[in-house]
Amino acid sequence: MAEKIYWNKEIETMELDKMKELQSERLVRQVKHVWDNVPYYRKLMEEKGVTPEDIKGVEDLHKLPFISKADLREGYPYGLLAKPLSECVRIQSTSGTTGKRVVAFYTQNDVDLWEDCVARAITAAGGTKEDVCQVCYGYGLFTGGPGLHGGAHKVGCLTLPMSSGNTERQIQFMMDLKSTILCCTPSYAAYIGETLAEMGYKPEDNSLKAGIFGAEPWTEEMRQEIQKLLGIKAYDIYGLTETSGPGVAFECEEQTGMHINEDNFIAEIIDPDTGEVLPEGSKGELVFTSITKEAFPLLRYRTRDICVLSRKKCSCGRTLVKMTKPMGRSDDMLIIKGVNVFPSQIETVLLKDFNATPNYQIVVDRVGSVDTFEIKVELSEDMFSDTIKSVEALEKKLSADIVQILGIRAKISLVEPKSIPRSEGKAVRVIDRRKLV
Ligand code: ADP
Ligand code: ZN
Repeated sequence: MAEKIYWNKEIETMELDKMKELQSERLVRQVKHVWDNVPYYRKLMEEKGVTPEDIKGVEDLHKLPFISKADLREGYPYGLLAKPLSECVRIQSTSGTTGKRVVAFYTQNDVDLWEDCVARAITAAGGTKEDVCQVCYGYGLFTGGPGLHGGAHKVGCLTLPMSSGNTERQIQFMMDLKSTILCCTPSYAAYIGETLAEMGYKPEDNSLKAGIFGAEPWTEEMRQEIQKLLGIKAYDIYGLTETSGPGVAFECEEQTGMHINEDNFIAEIIDPDTGEVLPEGSKGELVFTSITKEAFPLLRYRTRDICVLSRKKCSCGRTLVKMTKPMGRSDDMLIIKGVNVFPSQIETVLLKDFNATPNYQIVVDRVGSVDTFEIKVELSEDMFSDTIKSVEALEKKLSADIVQILGIRAKISLVEPKSIPRSEGKAVRVIDRRKLV
């Protein structure tokens, strides 16, 4: 068997005790750093009656106050900065998916550590300096492009800074330069795959071997679809601007969740309603403490992403804790007719049972005091040319399956091929008109 390759074997395969020791040492230093340099943090800690002396190691983490996106918005732009601006070299910003954008700052060391995390992800996906890595995440304030770009450079890949969009040009470069690794959002990967097929290419015609996809929720079924379309192995990557960007966690060849870079981020799962820390294996909100970041260090940052942590032994040899694919954010969750609905539950039904195209949209509205709930599903060309009877049967089955999974009825609208807008970045799956009134 070939020897396993890691970017940083010592860290990625470190025994738990040793990792806890490392985390404790870094946490103590980090708490002192924010206490000394960020008045906003000192105030939050004082309000909770905790001082740096109370934090002696990871076992004391729970004593610290949480910090949330609302705090970051309040502190915008410089309120949480922990280093003089003269020591900062970069600003990135969130995509603003759920409201006002948040900005994050980086020292050179922060950038190096971030890129190092991404290099681990690329290596875990089989990337080496022999690879041609096509980065079609957006470049700019969004962390996707710069993050994957920096990581690919570190690994020594030939890096194509394509940014997102202009899909035909993406494909031309991909074919001409024989790209071997594709990095973008999963929804854009599906779009690229679809366009390739339309241009007459078969999955085996391209040189791609792996894709590194993240920045938005995607289901296991979506992974199968993309792997089939592009003829590759598709790896998940997770991160958020507040904690650096992509690379906070990454998938290995086992494809059963993402290893968290625990030497830089301590992960906890909490009950989103009570803030109580939940035991390993529980589903809840993911909270991160960044223990190495200098310019913008966050302690107990509430991500609002819902997932499960596991220390089950991984066949790749990494000992880093694993997180499941986030099933969506707590604030992505729709409450329709009083029932909690995650778009990912709907995606699972669509792709698994119907082999539908991964193009759908959920439209929620309110008529009087009653919620309306519609799922628009795009038919593939094949389905579109089927008899009316078979399309009706499809609609009926879909409707029944949705009721079974969610407990509420949705109006299913099967729409023509190509009628749902494609995404080059984060896909917009939900249109909630109730918020507009
Ligand atoms: P915004 O919060 O405005 O979207 P970011 O661009 O920083 O800003 O996005 C970070 C968020 O994107 C995460 O909190 C998470 O909800 C989502 N995300 C990132 N990677 C993944 C992934 N692999 N799977 C699911 N969701 C992801
Ligand atoms: Zn693994």
